[in-house]
Amino acid sequence: MKKRWPFPYIIIATKNKGKLKQFADLFQEQLHLRVKGLDEFPQLPEIVEDRDTFEGNALKKAETIAAALQAPVISDDSGLVVPALHGAPGIYSARYAGEGATDEANNEKLLAEMSEVPDEQRQGKYVCAMALAVPGEESQVVRGECHGVITRQPRGQEGFGYDPLFYVPEEGKTMAELPKERKYQISHRAEATGKLIQLLKAQYDFDGGKEE
Ligand code: IMP
Repeated sequence: MKKRWPFPYIIIATKNKGKLKQFADLFQEQLHLRVKGLDEFPQLPEIVEDRDTFEGNALKKAETIAAALQAPVISDDSGLVVPALHGAPGIYSARYAGEGATDEANNEKLLAEMSEVPDEQRQGKYVCAMALAVPGEESQVVRGECHGVITRQPRGQEGFGYDPLFYVPEEGKTMAELPKERKYQISHRAEATGKLIQLLKAQYDFDGGKEE
């Protein structure tokens, strides 16, 4: 028996307008559910991502905001995992080369750390943990992954972060060489979002959301 979705909307824990628009389109189409971004809630405290897993950080963020606003929240945490570097940069992906590091600095550090790693050990994966916190219910978290190979020099202008160094064998291109529509279809974030929508569809009845 499905539960009735308790709110006319869902909050996406981001201020990024591009990310929000992607969620808005998808949630409207798949669930007939409106989304709101954090720009609409400026009074929220800063949340420190201090857990030691992607899942832990995503859950902490979603649960903290859901408790503060008494509304359902989706939050994600993502990064690049390289087994040859024992999982680095991992949860530290955004600040691999130091607090406030630029993408270029992070990419340079990744190349330097991997300069001695042979071709056959240069696998990497993007990971995205996406958490759902609904007040009064147990939180849930899903994971999406996208597998690739770390190149020896940057290629391409699209995307962000480690994309110029992240080669996707099936596409014959780095993430930064792929059009953003294609990246969106194959990315770790797309996989996690798809899983979360399936989970929501399986557990909730969204008719209430349509009326607002
Ligand atoms: P966030 O949790 O989505 O803010 O991602 C944290 C960091 O992981 C980013 O600052 C990037 O360094 C890296 N990252 C996450 N997703 C991607 C991606 O799709 N492409 C490139 N880098 C990514």
